Amino acid sequence: MPDSKPIHAAIYVRISKDSEQMGLGVKRQEKLCRELLERRGWDLYDAYRDNDVSATRSDSRPAYERMVRDITDGLVQGIVVYAVDRLTRSPRELEDVIDWADEHKLELASVTTDINLATPDGRAMARNQGMFAKLEAEKQSLRLKAKLQQLAEDGRHVGPRPFGWDWSVNEDGTKGKDLVINEHEAGLVKEIADKVLSGATLYSIVQYLNEEVQIRTARGAKWRSQNVRKLLMRPSNAGIKVHNGIELREGDWPKIFDRDKHERLVALLTDPSRVTNRGTSVKHLLSGLVVCALCNSPMHSNASREHKVDYTLADGTVKTSVTHRPGKYRCHPPGCQKASQNREMIDHMVTEYVLGLLRREGVEIFGGDMELVENTQERIASIKAKLALNTDRWIEGKITVEQYDRANAALQPQLSQAEKELRLAMPSAEFQEFAGPGVDQAWEQADLHKRRQVIRVLQDAGFKVKIGQLGRKARYQPGAVPAFNPDTVELWWGDQRLNPPRDARATN
Ligand SMILES: [Zn+2]
Repeated sequence: MPDSKPIHAAIYVRISKDSEQMGLGVKRQEKLCRELLERRGWDLYDAYRDNDVSATRSDSRPAYERMVRDITDGLVQGIVVYAVDRLTRSPRELEDVIDWADEHKLELASVTTDINLATPDGRAMARNQGMFAKLEAEKQSLRLKAKLQQLAEDGRHVGPRPFGWDWSVNEDGTKGKDLVINEHEAGLVKEIADKVLSGATLYSIVQYLNEEVQIRTARGAKWRSQNVRKLLMRPSNAGIKVHNGIELREGDWPKIFDRDKHERLVALLTDPSRVTNRGTSVKHLLSGLVVCALCNSPMHSNASREHKVDYTLADGTVKTSVTHRPGKYRCHPPGCQKASQNREMIDHMVTEYVLGLLRREGVEIFGGDMELVENTQERIASIKAKLALNTDRWIEGKITVEQYDRANAALQPQLSQAEKELRLAMPSAEFQEFAGPGVDQAWEQADLHKRRQVIRVLQDAGFKVKIGQLGRKARYQPGAVPAFNPDTVELWWGDQRLNPPRDARATN
């Protein structure tokens, strides 16, 4: 048959959950399709890409619909796909394509199989391939279901030996399938958990494990902050089995510490205000804990600096003039950069208020509220049950992956909020001395990290420091503290300002 008009072809790719799992990214699908298109000598009319994580349920495929319009308008005479099941999601859709082959002389090219829709054999093959893919998807979901169910039922640990446990030994001396406590390692896990809960940095723990104890991870590596963090947040520490972020059940292995401690560690180590000082040691009391009054960005501090200028005297000797520049908390980019004030003065001012607050409210803030603890724990349990139910429904095929994700996305923030509330309600032994009259002495003896922790707990309870611009009257005043205007440093407790500006106080 002589070449008449070149075929204008569409490349159609669809990304779906199963193709991702099989490592068939959309880019690779498209690349293979383009190669096939060239081999066939077709012209590319357009590439159509749909993102569809479910093979059977999602209704909307905008690119596919656009392609159908272009086919029926006669603009496209060929389709290149990776496999037939990328193109059609049901036997009925495949029949549509076969109809277009009749009406519009449409040709179909598939990377995985040679298909000629013009012949009965080719059509049968396409139908088979579509069916086969559907069957394969169903088998896969059955395998997944079986695997998850097995995991759910089987509390056993799978994977390499975790730090803190050893594999049990069978009577014949071979390696068993159960975990038994490794007393030395489990003791260390307990010890560093307590250290972190009472204010030690992850970095200091890393030093401790690597240098002092001289122990390696279960895989024989040196400890790093990330390992320590992961180690302390493992649900398995409290005997909890988790799969895909969903708590399945208590595992069958001995726990290192109780669930309470686990939850407090998770709350502490996932506290967003910690992220600002990950890895490095923070040198200033309020770095990352105070915010810009104008744009709400967290403010950090630079070190105080000496500003040196060399100048030459008439006799040729060189002298150096040194000016002391006070350290400041500053609004840095991406913040507005408009606010910055004297760090020492703000530290002093905030400390005064914090101590006053702790003397008055400390017992309530740190003393704990058992009723609230119980209520919140119940709430957490019910949210976790909903998450587990969501997983079950997905495993059973009652909901699509999108619905699963949507439900998860709705429940996760509720869970973090409840966990935060639990941390607040929990009576915390590590802060007991900061409650009530002993607070001044406790504060005096606490190191910087402990003090920052105290301020974080207060922040969770509603304390906030906002630093504004200096304002005109704070400038150029002889004898005044440089770069500091207490009127524009706002201390808040909930929506009540603790230090109303002087002008307001004068008129009251
Ligand atoms: Zn700002």
